[in-house]
Amino acid sequence: MTTPRHGGDKRGSSYDRRLRKDWLASPEAGFGGDGTVVPCVHCKTLVSGPDLEADRIVPGGSYGFAPPYPNVQPACGPCNKARSDDVTWTYQGTAIVAA
Ligand SMILES: [Zn+2]
Repeated sequence: MTTPRHGGDKRGSSYDRRLRKDWLASPEAGFGGDGTVVPCVHCKTLVSGPDLEADRIVPGGSYGFAPPYPNVQPACGPCNKARSDDVTWTYQGTAIVAA
């Protein structure tokens, strides 16, 4: 018996997203996480839970469907939004300036 997949878009199910974030924060992923909290790869802000976003290294590519995910890195919301699809964006190069 197999369980039918719901959705089917590239982001996968909410269960897939949860697994991805758990992996990003895990020590095994190599991003400096301790299983709960992990630094954003761009600004080094520690993020966890809903603040942790899976930033695709190659925008538009697949996240991958099982760990180790080849195309994701941990990011905070502001960096993930600021970077968007610009692979040349860097936190220091395009600083998020507080008004
Ligand atoms: Zn950040």
